[in-house]
Amino acid sequence: MSNKIQSIRGMNDLLPEDTPRWQFVEGVMRKTLAAYGYSEIRMPIVEKSELFKRSIGEVTDIVEKEMYSFADRNGDELTLRPEGTAGCVRAVIENNLVRGAAQRLWYMGPMFRHERPQRGRYRQFHQLGVELFGLESSDVDAELISISARIWRELGIKDVTLQINSLGSTDTRAKYRDTLVSYFKESYEQLDEDSVRRLESNPLRILDSKNRDMAELIQNAPILEEALSDEDRDHFEQLKAYLDSMGIAYEVNPRLVRGLDYYGRTVFEWVTDKLGAQGTICAGGRYDGLVEQIGGKSTPAVGFAIGIERLVELLKESAVEFKQNRVDAYLVLVGDAAISAGLGVAEKIRELIPGIELIANLGGGSFKAQFKRADRSGAHYALVVGEDEIATETVTVKDLSGEQEQRNIALTLIESSLVL
Ligand code: ATP
Ligand code: MG
Repeated sequence: MSNKIQSIRGMNDLLPEDTPRWQFVEGVMRKTLAAYGYSEIRMPIVEKSELFKRSIGEVTDIVEKEMYSFADRNGDELTLRPEGTAGCVRAVIENNLVRGAAQRLWYMGPMFRHERPQRGRYRQFHQLGVELFGLESSDVDAELISISARIWRELGIKDVTLQINSLGSTDTRAKYRDTLVSYFKESYEQLDEDSVRRLESNPLRILDSKNRDMAELIQNAPILEEALSDEDRDHFEQLKAYLDSMGIAYEVNPRLVRGLDYYGRTVFEWVTDKLGAQGTICAGGRYDGLVEQIGGKSTPAVGFAIGIERLVELLKESAVEFKQNRVDAYLVLVGDAAISAGLGVAEKIRELIPGIELIANLGGGSFKAQFKRADRSGAHYALVVGEDEIATETVTVKDLSGEQEQRNIALTLIESSLVL
């Protein structure tokens, strides 16, 4: 049998033609986060299933139907992380990271959700997550939003808009919950199966439904704003003032509730109309109750996550130019003497020109064949080493873009002879 084994549906290879754009995006993110004093944290990809049930909420799309869960050989119930906040909070508590001072953290990596694969929706996808622990005031929420805004600016992305909302405190949501239940009960026959189930357990989730048949019902639902307490209202008003003062434009979307249970007060999303149905590239909000909920000392927190696949796709759509890596030189080795000395010569060149991107010809081949490979590699220069060059400790430099004449130079002078 020689059946080809294929990748898992919804889990993609990132090919060499894709990775430069990803590295560009990741590089901008790292640099931007450093500029705001955030540090990287790396958590395991697998956590106890209980962690996600307790933090994301039992009655959410993720926990109800999207988790990759399994029992390991000890019979422990484990799950491939569907998002990063839960694991980050667990790590913060376990390592006692919030003692007095605020913690500014970020992480990047794969997340797993068993969804229906389509454009912008995969079963393994990647997120940048940014979290701040220990501060309650809305300047934090505003700064986080400004970090995301700066990432768009640094990447050259323009076609995104910011939506914000406040979900209020736990009390507010409890009151609002009752209002929503009465409203939806009046139109019980219009609810879909998921919504009927959520009506008792988690009616706010109904607002997050993607079912188009329910769009109008949701559009006419009472909004939470009227139920906000004075404190919640102040927090939200201050956030808007901070955003105004930074010149960050936003829309207040009173129906923005987010698909996870742990949010309260500020929630926000960055959306684009350039990506079809999966238009949210970044989502986040405040989750002041979560740390305590999973066993830590009560600690306010805010965070957001960027969907990197969607962001990379948006960069492509917007035809944003970025610096592509180009191989600097290809080392052509002519004759047995050069072939046996070749790897040594390549090492020498790498020492003489730190950072040079040099492909050494491997596996021999005729002069002509090697030149063809040099051309195909996209290298700027071919560096030719044969018997003569070995004897005189020189290399022959050929500019493959054809701008300069071929010349023979001393190996020791190679750095000043190439324009990289
Ligand atoms: P959606 O409403 O699109 O399902 P979500 O509310 O489930 O998103 P979050 O859990 O807030 O998403 O994740 C943050 C971001 O991660 C999303 O805004 C999106 O950019 C990205 N994301 C979420 N799920 C996927 C997925 N299955 N494939 C690719 N990107 C995703
Ligand atoms: Mg989702």
